[in-house]
Amino acid sequence: MRIGIVGGGASGAYLAIRLKELNPSFNVTVFERNDRLLKKISVTGNGRCNYANLGETKGKYNNDEFANRILDNLPRKDLIDNFERYGIHPTKIDNLVYPVSLSAQTVMMMLEKRLEQLGVIIRLNEDVLDYKKDHKQYTLITNKQTHAFDVLVFASGGKAYPQLGTNGAIIELMRQHGYLIEEPSPSLSPIKVKENTKKISGQRVKCSVSLINNNKLFYEEDGEVLFKDDGLSGIVILNMSTKINSLKDKNNVKVVLDLAKGYNNIKKEEYEQYVHPKIAAYLIEHNLDIHQISFSFKAFYDYNIAEVSHGGISVNEVNNNLESKKEKDLYFVGELLDVDGMCGGYNLMFAFASAETVAKAIK
Ligand SMILES: Cc1cc2nc3c(=O)[nH]c(=O)nc-3n(C[C@H](O)[C@H](O)[C@H](O)COP(=O)(O)OP(=O)(O)OC[C@H]3O[C@@H](n4cnc5c(N)ncnc54)[C@H](O)[C@@H]3O)c2cc1C
Repeated sequence: MRIGIVGGGASGAYLAIRLKELNPSFNVTVFERNDRLLKKISVTGNGRCNYANLGETKGKYNNDEFANRILDNLPRKDLIDNFERYGIHPTKIDNLVYPVSLSAQTVMMMLEKRLEQLGVIIRLNEDVLDYKKDHKQYTLITNKQTHAFDVLVFASGGKAYPQLGTNGAIIELMRQHGYLIEEPSPSLSPIKVKENTKKISGQRVKCSVSLINNNKLFYEEDGEVLFKDDGLSGIVILNMSTKINSLKDKNNVKVVLDLAKGYNNIKKEEYEQYVHPKIAAYLIEHNLDIHQISFSFKAFYDYNIAEVSHGGISVNEVNNNLESKKEKDLYFVGELLDVDGMCGGYNLMFAFASAETVAKAIK
């Protein structure tokens, strides 16, 4: 059996390993347009690679039911055990799982080593441009040559961080091949707001954040917010961006910060006791209540800052094994699908679980 995998990121590399472990006789080739596999892994979790989360997974994804069904195919213990076998020993910070080295480089190197041990064929600097099917076999067309396969798996990621190879070209290719595409947009992204935040740019605050859509509370979370020149950032805001992405109409979305949750009857002249003087001055200048600072959503930041992309190949295009409903022996895994999760290891966990699903399905 000849299997071609398009993309040597988290899902593509893990899929190649699991395919060879389960079926040593398979001939597995990974195509990667970069000069090295797994480049994006190197920047995950601030260079530490938060590859799993031991907490609740329900409510953490856009297509939540679908994502959780796929996650069931790779229990977290199995993922962590497999990584341990490859030499990636886990450590936990709260519910977040990292390599004990706290270095994403360990994950990259150990996965590369395992791929080599298993004899996976790696074709670097090879950009997949198109594919066609004739006489029961697929032909993959790259910038260098054509290759024949029995099975194709697209693991080419989304549109976020194009500087690391994910330019979204495969999403457009799949649109041309007749697949339904949920329109991509940046997610896990800082947000631009209509108000001017320049004067408090660089300040960080611990606060309670509410997302208000059409005057109704839609989501809330406590955390740290970082003010930028023209907007807001911080993990809690990145999580808000995934929620905003799920709204069809984004015209009346507000992010409201409570900078002094649990403290009551604070007078304006006391603001400096609760927040940095620069922020206190900003609140007074704009006549804002310390418990209710409202910012109007304007836009997401660009793909080159966003950690993932929302949208991609519609989950309705695949069956439970992630095989295309339109084309037999063609599969999709990872962020290329319309699945995006919140901060905390959920996206890598989906990438690995989707790869495990396909590795077990190909016989
Ligand atoms: C800054 C940052 C921090 C992050 N931190 C975390 C974190 O801590 N935890 C977490 O769970 N998630 C994190 N993520 C998200 C996570 O990295 C992705 O969701 C995950 O890597 C998706 O895996 P994937 O295999 O689908 O795609 P990717 O890992 O993006 O891999 C896709 C690969 O396909 C290649 N490719 C694309 N098109 C072609 C083509 N035409 N031909 C050949 N190759 C192609 C690309 O070059 C790329 O190497 C982070 C992302 C970023 C950008």
